[in-house]
Amino acid sequence: MTDTATFPLTFTTTPSATARAAAEREEILADPGFGKYFTDHMATISWSIEEGWHDARVVPYGPLRLDPAAAVLHYAQEIFEGLKVYRHADGSIWAFRPEANARRMQRSAERLALPQLPESAFVEAVKRLVEADSEWVPSAPETSLYVRPFMIASEAFLGVRSAHGVDFHVIASPAGAYFPGGVRPVSIWLSQDYTRAGRGGMGAAKTGGNYAASLLPQAEAYEQGCQQVVFLDAEERRYVEELGGMNVFFVYADGRVVTPALSGTILEGITRESVIQLAKERGHAIEERRVSIDEWREGVSSGDITEVFACGTAAVITPIGLLKARDFQAGSLDAPAGALTMSLREELTGIQYGRREDHHDWMLRLA
Ligand SMILES: *Cc1c(COP(=O)(O)O)cnc(C)c1O
Repeated sequence: MTDTATFPLTFTTTPSATARAAAEREEILADPGFGKYFTDHMATISWSIEEGWHDARVVPYGPLRLDPAAAVLHYAQEIFEGLKVYRHADGSIWAFRPEANARRMQRSAERLALPQLPESAFVEAVKRLVEADSEWVPSAPETSLYVRPFMIASEAFLGVRSAHGVDFHVIASPAGAYFPGGVRPVSIWLSQDYTRAGRGGMGAAKTGGNYAASLLPQAEAYEQGCQQVVFLDAEERRYVEELGGMNVFFVYADGRVVTPALSGTILEGITRESVIQLAKERGHAIEERRVSIDEWREGVSSGDITEVFACGTAAVITPIGLLKARDFQAGSLDAPAGALTMSLREELTGIQYGRREDHHDWMLRLA
């Protein structure tokens, strides 16, 4: 979409008058959980068809004023991102590949007929928010500040067309260790009744609708005693796509690392891309191709597949111990997490937390 705004945008800052006291913040940071507590500020940039992107601001965190006719509430014209910000041992604060999130949000915007926010404005909004709320970046091992940029159709109009008024917001939430008791393999439920995305649909866009579609199968997974659900392709119901919010990898006995190819129905994870890069550098052959559910099942049973893991920003890399379906199971929760799985996890988190050198220039210093 065309854009008349001039960049860089100038951000204004309105400090919160009700910012949490240091003692209260420290209490929250001692056990933040995930997505429960939010920092004192938020960043917002508005867009209109007349003005383009304008009015960039950091303001006190609080409820949005949204007209009940706002298009997002009716037609789900919404996209989001998720990235983490880490405190290094020297106190400095870094984001992992925020430009990649900015570019992915542009691709999501295109699919959802939303305006594209320039990469620099996205990164600047994240930076301004983290600067304002830098004390909210925790320092305990495996903790981070989870940053959630999102864009919504805020125009009050019930006609069905792309909105002429849109808002981009960034909020942030301190996140505790995903596996407080140490990394443990998870069990995965195979969704045979529901699919996540069809060809030509929104599967490659990070949009709330995909998550809404995954909630019922996710509930089914819980009923089956599994933590996560894995989806098959919508056409043949045969090929592994991804989990509700994570990509999936298979490690073969001969060292090959295999992951479902991006087909338009899979979300292109930044963790996925980073894992591919790291595995390549270690000399593993990488195959991005279709993987049938039979290949998974038979590979695990025969020993051809030695490790299976899922990856995404929230949990980084999660070993998958057990695949459970209506009429079969493969793997076991008793087996320890795979060696490559754990070693890649250590390497990636090492880069993120500044314990390892960042050869790829993935980290961006924010404060
Ligand atoms: C966000 C997301 C992922 C993981 O992407 P990362 O960039 O690695 O966090 C995978 N699948 C879906 C459906 C997602 O929404």
